[in-house]
Amino acid sequence: MTEFEPVVGLEVHAELHTQSKMFCGCAVVDSTSAGPNSAVCEVCTGMPGTLPVINQRAVEFALRVALALECHVAVTSVFARKNYFYPDLPKGYQISQYELPLASDGVLEFGPEAELRSARIRRVHLEEDTGKLIHGPGYSLIDYNRSGVPLLEIVSEPDLRSVPEVKAYATALRSLLRYLDVTSGDMEKGAIRFEANVSLRRRGSSTLGVRTEIKNLNSFRGMLRALEHEIERQGGILSAGGKVVQETLGWDEARGVTVSQRGKEEAHDYRYFPEPDLPPLVIAPAEIDRIRASLPELPLAKRARFAHDFGLTAYAAEVLTADRHVADYFESAVAAEPDVTPARIANWLTGDLFGLLNELGVDIAAARVPPASLAELVALVERGEINQSTGKILLAEMAQEGGSPRAIVRDRGLSQLTDQTAIEPLVERVLRDNPEQVDLYLQGKTTVSQWLFGQVMKAAGGKAHPPTVQQLLSARLQALEAERQKR
Ligand code: ADP
Ligand code: MG
Ligand code: ZN
Repeated sequence: MTEFEPVVGLEVHAELHTQSKMFCGCAVVDSTSAGPNSAVCEVCTGMPGTLPVINQRAVEFALRVALALECHVAVTSVFARKNYFYPDLPKGYQISQYELPLASDGVLEFGPEAELRSARIRRVHLEEDTGKLIHGPGYSLIDYNRSGVPLLEIVSEPDLRSVPEVKAYATALRSLLRYLDVTSGDMEKGAIRFEANVSLRRRGSSTLGVRTEIKNLNSFRGMLRALEHEIERQGGILSAGGKVVQETLGWDEARGVTVSQRGKEEAHDYRYFPEPDLPPLVIAPAEIDRIRASLPELPLAKRARFAHDFGLTAYAAEVLTADRHVADYFESAVAAEPDVTPARIANWLTGDLFGLLNELGVDIAAARVPPASLAELVALVERGEINQSTGKILLAEMAQEGGSPRAIVRDRGLSQLTDQTAIEPLVERVLRDNPEQVDLYLQGKTTVSQWLFGQVMKAAGGKAHPPTVQQLLSARLQALEAERQKR
């Protein structure tokens, strides 16, 4: 712990996955698969004489987020022009919200149950995305498909105090946005992007230090690395008695350093003024009530309910509720087999199925194992119809090929061997075929019994009930031992 404490405020931009863009009827398309400039029109390419129209669904999405963050929603908010020139911004200004944002003064709780933290939300507002520049050797191309896609900006107060805390905050916010189904949250496609403001101050001080702002961070890893680097850099300056200069920085991922882009721009540089082509946005109180009532159960509430109702550890509840699809999957599985212990299903889901899906590169929503099939498999294991290791092999197969566990067990004769009269001959055979190992055991090398156990399991094709094998094997070995002592 150094003498300085980091202070971070995060600006998060989320692309809303509405059908159409923020101010025109163009489709919101996947920029990685749609052909360049295939979803553009006069409005989103900034032709003179065109007029914007507010996307009602985008407003609804923004309100969902604002209400989930417990913000105060402005009855009247105003769109404004933020003027600057850049080739990806064909109008020469971005329509955003400035003085009167849609919502303000909220809060986000985040982190594990045992160390729950919170950060205040300063504002939530709507704006439009820019186009995309693609740079080649000696030329640049512009794709305006993204131009005008609805963007939600969520700005925190400077309430975050460490890099892990920033990570927990950003993770919780992304999870919340996905629960609310307003964004794909797909970081690889740039659906969520960050700007991080960071300053240092002497520990114990209550005033804020001079901050820098790191722009265009489009991965968690990049953001966290950039912050670590910037905290280190500012710490070096302050320790040497220097002063941090307020400025805007970029993050050079390849070199792992922040680079100065420009002196800090001031609001007046953008010449904000109310967008003359749009009326003020007025939200009826009834609309707020309607949306509030339609909010789904949010991650923290679900987490608490899972831990309580299903007897899960805090950790398991956290893992299962981080993603809404995973939570839904788990609940369907539990409902499909009410007699099975939910914690067992949780283990098979997070321990085994997650690993298999990861290897296959498949999302839980697209898994070939539906919730009821996983539950059925866990039930077969819990009732002793198959043993644990057969269960694992079966699940690996189901993840690849699909199929019902009960049917596969029946067709392939995978049922667990519990019948003593079937297992006894296998034990006899293994002892007869391995006289040297048996001798070693009788001479006192008792660990050999583990090896013999493995041989019996193998002889049973992995299907025998392990405790029964164990029991029959030790009974036979003890009998041999007693015989030997008599002699
Ligand atoms: P701007 O609009 O110029 O980007 P704001 O004052 O609206 O600046 O703040 C943007 C972000 O910077 C917010 O998330 C806020 O919490 C954060 N912030 C403001 N001052 C500081 C500071 N001294 N240290 C760290 N973060 C700060
Ligand atoms: Mg900013
Ligand atoms: Zn358009």
